Amino acid sequence: MPANSQRARTIALYPGTFDPFHNGHLDIATRALALFDGLVIGVYDLPDKRLLFTPQERVDLVRECLSELGIDGRARVMGYSGLTVNFAREIGATTMVRGLRNSVDFDFELQMAQTNHWLVEDIEAVYLMANAPNHFLSATLIRQITELGGDVTTLVPSSVARALKKKAAPGTQE
Ligand code: ADP
Repeated sequence: MPANSQRARTIALYPGTFDPFHNGHLDIATRALALFDGLVIGVYDLPDKRLLFTPQERVDLVRECLSELGIDGRARVMGYSGLTVNFAREIGATTMVRGLRNSVDFDFELQMAQTNHWLVEDIEAVYLMANAPNHFLSATLIRQITELGGDVTTLVPSSVARALKKKAAPGTQE
């Protein structure tokens, strides 16, 4: 009998704002899919920051990206509000996945991990290092370039590129 045949299925939650979902997020999600039995991408509805896309638009865009890549059957995309640890519990996730780009991310994530551990002891966090091509990428950068008329097509999945073009020039036809 294989040693892990009795092992419980590990569902991981990859939470974030994803405003919008970009190649760095996609890379973390794809790598997490290879590590866990199930993955839920949790789209936090109303963070304390200025947003370009509504909560529903962000959920729909992540779904479209996964569908474009043919991996929509393997990961679920769900919007959520409130404490991330509570959402993790609701969906039966025992692990949270986050990406790390640099020491700024590290300092933020360390505080967040300790806070989450204080709130809920039995949910573990796992950190994946950003891969080189996506290392400089952030959703803020994508939004800023778009708002200033730049082209981010190579930095985001094609459904996000289309949605950004519409935001930049509403009313234009594809
Ligand atoms: P937040 O969840 O902090 O509001 P995001 O939604 O932008 O921010 O990011 C969600 C997660 O994806 C975070 O763990 C973040 O560190 C990670 N992430 C963001 N950009 C990248 C990138 N370029 N490469 C790898 N991980 C990233």
